[in-house]
Amino acid sequence: MMSKTHIAVGIAASLAAAPATAEGLSFALMGGAIGSLICDIDRSSDRPSRDVRQGWGIAFTVFFTAFMHESYVYWQTFRAETIFSNPLILVCLGLLVVLLLFAINGAHRGFSHSLLMFFASSVLVFFINRQTSLFYAIGFLTHLFLDLLNKKPVRIFYPAKGICLGWFYADGLANRILLLTGTGGCAALLILKYQMYGNLLRVIR
Ligand SMILES: [Zn+2]
Repeated sequence: MMSKTHIAVGIAASLAAAPATAEGLSFALMGGAIGSLICDIDRSSDRPSRDVRQGWGIAFTVFFTAFMHESYVYWQTFRAETIFSNPLILVCLGLLVVLLLFAINGAHRGFSHSLLMFFASSVLVFFINRQTSLFYAIGFLTHLFLDLLNKKPVRIFYPAKGICLGWFYADGLANRILLLTGTGGCAALLILKYQMYGNLLRVIR
């Protein structure tokens, strides 16, 4: 599927799993945005297509909007001194960069689309920031699931050969339907969960 579809479906699935708190929704947006597109880092080397550039533009905008919300409203998780004074986080960040450099140079739908990459990167993200790791994993899994529906094989069991269901073209009608459903789902879940959060606050007060 195309980048925007991956982001919309990945974030919608993350929001569905998120607790109805402003913080929980921020973490879901951050983890879902990056997790749902990270596999396609193998399309980002050399000359990235318009779809890839647009996808990363949207993913980073969502990530940083939620990041700023989390950092400045709550100021709990991403304090620079917490990150740079923790050797474990620094080591995991370094290993994640190495993993991404390996993935970026692979063939499309190769290592970056494998369960190996999923487990390795999810564990590293868990040690970097626990609250986003579940949503990163959900975003990643939705990407693999959507790509498996396409006609181009995905090397999900890397280094074994790729597999796919071969049902849809990546840029066909199914892609458009999934994009609309995912975007609608994101909007509905955000409204619903923020409302639930607001009502909960009122009850507590
Ligand atoms: Zn992909």
